[in-house]
Amino acid sequence: MSKSKLKVVVIAVLLGVLSFTGLNQGNIQADELKSKQVVLAKEIIKSIKYQADIKTELEIIKNKESSDSDALNIDLTLEMTFQKTLENLEIELIKDKLEFELVNKQILSVGDTAELPYLGDGSYTWPVEDYFNVSQYYGATHKGIDINTLGAHPNVVAVQTGIVVKAINDGDGFGNKVVVYQGDNTYTLYAHLQTMKVQVGQYIEEGKIIGLVGHTGNSTGDHLHIQMTKSGNVENNTIDPYEYIKIVENK
Ligand SMILES: [Zn+2]
Repeated sequence: MSKSKLKVVVIAVLLGVLSFTGLNQGNIQADELKSKQVVLAKEIIKSIKYQADIKTELEIIKNKESSDSDALNIDLTLEMTFQKTLENLEIELIKDKLEFELVNKQILSVGDTAELPYLGDGSYTWPVEDYFNVSQYYGATHKGIDINTLGAHPNVVAVQTGIVVKAINDGDGFGNKVVVYQGDNTYTLYAHLQTMKVQVGQYIEEGKIIGLVGHTGNSTGDHLHIQMTKSGNVENNTIDPYEYIKIVENK
């Protein structure tokens, strides 16, 4: 074998070894990121629940103060402690959410997010502000429901808490579409948006704005097409969204 040929072989082998270890490192990194994501998600869910509990306690104390003036001195200390805890929780939450978003972006660049625990609380918010007219229901040929806005472009809000895994118009007929992953294989797709106001990797809470209703893609007029799944594939294995979001129409 000539010297130059040998050189080529050595380089090829080296490149092979490098790309192989690179690939393994990628997998290990993805696994590490996913465990980190799960820990952070659980932390966030716990903090939000704790926050809600403290707010309820504070409400009770304040009600007691207004009805019973003798209780004022004792409860003021407790009230201040609770306020301080709330402030600290808020700071923790902001930090955790930022880190969570960073991890999400890294994970989305290497793989999927299917191992995340369910992020919602079981409740659903109606997805379109001020408009409740369902112009087309779920069925064999229509995998979601349409909410007609009569030419208006109101806010589309998240029906449940999750992370944005798609915010794109990829020419599939959905127009500007946003897909939110809520953990445990549950996804929601929001289609035909005029404007998308979220980014991939972003943590979005139930009720927060995703974009504006529009008629991008295969659409004859302004409406939101929303479709959902509980088994991982929001394009095909769909469920009837109306079974869930009709429960709470206006929060
Ligand atoms: Zn539709």
